[in-house]
This record gives sequence, structure tokens and C-alpha cells, in this order.
Amino acid sequence: MRSPLDLPAGKGISRRSFFRFAAGASTLATLPILTEAHLAWAGQIEFADSNKGIHIDANENPLGPSEAARKAIMDIIPSGGRYKLDLSRDVAATFAGIEGLNPEFVMAFPGSSAPLHFTVFAFTDAHRPLVIADPGYEAPIWAAQAAGSPVIKVPLADPRGAATHDVKAMVAASTNPGVIYICNPNNPTGTTTNRADIEFAVANAPKGTILLIDEAYIHLSDVTPSLDFVKQGKDVIVLRTFSKLYGMAGLRMGFAIARPDLLKKMGSFGGFNAPPITALAAAKASLLDKDLVPNRKKHIGEIRNETLAWLTSVGYATTPSESNCFMLDVKRPGKEVIAAMAAKEVHIGRIWPVWPTQVRITVGAKDEMLAFRKAFQEVMSGSTAGLANPTLARLDEPVFTQLSSRVGA
Ligand code: PLP
Repeated sequence: MRSPLDLPAGKGISRRSFFRFAAGASTLATLPILTEAHLAWAGQIEFADSNKGIHIDANENPLGPSEAARKAIMDIIPSGGRYKLDLSRDVAATFAGIEGLNPEFVMAFPGSSAPLHFTVFAFTDAHRPLVIADPGYEAPIWAAQAAGSPVIKVPLADPRGAATHDVKAMVAASTNPGVIYICNPNNPTGTTTNRADIEFAVANAPKGTILLIDEAYIHLSDVTPSLDFVKQGKDVIVLRTFSKLYGMAGLRMGFAIARPDLLKKMGSFGGFNAPPITALAAAKASLLDKDLVPNRKKHIGEIRNETLAWLTSVGYATTPSESNCFMLDVKRPGKEVIAAMAAKEVHIGRIWPVWPTQVRITVGAKDEMLAFRKAFQEVMSGSTAGLANPTLARLDEPVFTQLSSRVGA
């Protein structure tokens, strides 16, 4: 098996060398790990210029960093020649203070992707599978495949209604799971898992199993966070990121929150994991701004709810999202609609194989969602004839073929 430490994803390699690596991969054990950014990119018909058109395909936040975060970045730039490792501890302690946690239970990372992958590496193996909801965020699956660990996908319960994690089925899915991954709210559906279900998982997961609770989108919802299970010393790892509500996807900042022994085991992968000091400074300023979360939650929630209400009014079903993304049933192969929307320079999210007629929509800025509505109405009222073009066929290619061929690797 290839050592997880050899994996190139996210380690600062060039786009071209990443795709070269992907193109050369021939077995699961040599696959890199694909994250939201990679998968959104692969889902585009052509590599779209991020400065052109509407991009509602990667669950990003068009608001970007807050004003206070931008100022903090400017102020710290002159110190960019220093590692400033103390800053990681300082920001972790700031977060711990706000959440009433022991600072030893918080570790800063450049985004939450790294601790997500490392948790899978550390706690799954050939005999200890990853258990994950379907449709769910794919990155843990890529990590498990790279580590040679089996993956058990458990369909969401009530897919036409609440579309929530079937936690009882997930806990029952294996007698010896390494990691049970719960994304709350879920990517791609934006749906939440309630407190009682999480309590059930904590109480009933087999001994030694890690419950990995990914709270990337928690600030956008009303769901109860799971940090108290960490405080109680349970086998729970919670992940937080600044890529979503805080608008810092390109700056790279996140936390893993867990018992120190779990952080130590997980954090030993990947070498130097400290975030850039610009991201740390921006994160601290964001955490100290008490109005930021409620204001942005309200702002994004209003745009989401207007969009969901409009889609319902024109006859399309969506998942009941509490997040910045939702699944939209287009009642025909989703890939056709993705291609037709891209032709209008509106880049929407991918499908999940288990739900081939549904596409993921990210909640963008108000004007972006109005442009989405216009393009969507045109696409859905038009004929699908003419959509069978060469670029559409590419959406059926395996993701690595798409990625590598598009950069000529
Ligand atoms: N977890 C979930 C559920 C996500 O959707 C994403 C990105 O979209 C991530 C983790 C990783 O985000 P980042 O590495 O930018 O923190």
C-alpha cells in the first residue's frame, strides 16, 4: 500500500503535476485524494475562468473574508518572513475560549481537508471500514481508498423528504468500523442530523470507533453543534473550516477538535500542518467579530430560502437545506442540465451517481442566483436536442480521465 504520507494532494504541487500524477494512477492505492475544490473543477465542462460567468459549483462564499479579516491580513503581511508557530496556538486558544474548550483539544490546520483525510488514515484500515452517508461528501471516500480501507455507503433516510443521515443504519452497518463520518449539515443536500441521532451514534458506535462529525457548514444552520461530546472525552473528532461562512476557502484555515490523544494520532500525518499566518490572522479577526456569524447566516439563509421557494413555485423539488447548498431534481439526467447551464456560463455543481437526476446548487450572491434562475428557466423550457455535444460526453468519463485530459497531461 502506498503510504498516505506520499500522497501529493494539497501539498503545494502544481496543477499540472497533480494531473500528471492522476493520469498515471492505475490502482486505487495510487490515487490522490480529491476534495471539494478538485471535484467541482472536474465537474466543469471545460475549465472555466473563475473570473468569468457564475460559479455556484463549489460551495464557496462569494462574500469572501470579512472587513476585519482583510485588515488583519494586511497588517500581518510584513511578518510573512516568520513561521510564527505561536500564532497557531493563539488562534486555537481564542476558539477554545469562545467555545469553553480546553485549548489542548483544538488543533489548527490549513482548512479542514487535511484533518479529514488524516482521520481516515489514522483510524481506518483494511479491516476497519469507513461508514458514510450516500449522497455525502466524497473526500473521505477518496482518503479511504488511498489507505486501502473498505467504504460502506449508507443511503440517506427519506430521500424524497428530510434526506437525513440514517444514523441507526450507519451504526449497524459494520461490527468494527474505523470511522463513522457524519457531515452536519450534509454536503451535498444541506440537510441536518438532529441531536438525538448524534447522541445515539455516540452512545452506540462500537468501542474504539471514531465518530467524525464534519461541521463545515454548521454556522449556516440551526443544528446543535457536537463540541460537547469532545468536552466529555468521547471518541469524537469535530471538524470546522473557515472556507464556508467565513469566506476564506482560498486562504486555508480550519480546526480539528478532539481529545489530545486522538489529535496526536491523527495529526502525525502530513508533517508541517500549520496554516499560513495570513489565514491565522484573518481567522482570529473573524472569531472576535460577534456579528459576523449571525449576519452572514441571515444573509445567505434569505437568498437560499428565496431560491428554494422560487424553484418550488416553478415545479422543481429540492432538498430542505439549512446550508449554502442543496440538491435540485431536474427530472432528467443532471449532466445534461450541467452542460446546458455551463453553455450559458452558469456553472452549477455535480451530480452524485446515486441520484442521477439531481444537481447540487451552491447559494451564491443575490444577483448570481437571479442569473441562475434565468438560465435555469431557459434551459428547462428549451429542447435538450443539441445538448449531445462532445463536452457532454466528457461528463461520463471517470474523474481522473477528465482531469488529466483537460490539462493535456
Ligand atoms: N468538509 C466538507 C463537508 C466540505 O464540503 C468541504 C469543502 O467543501 C471540506 C470539508 C473541506 O474544506 P476546506 O479544506 O476548504 O476546509
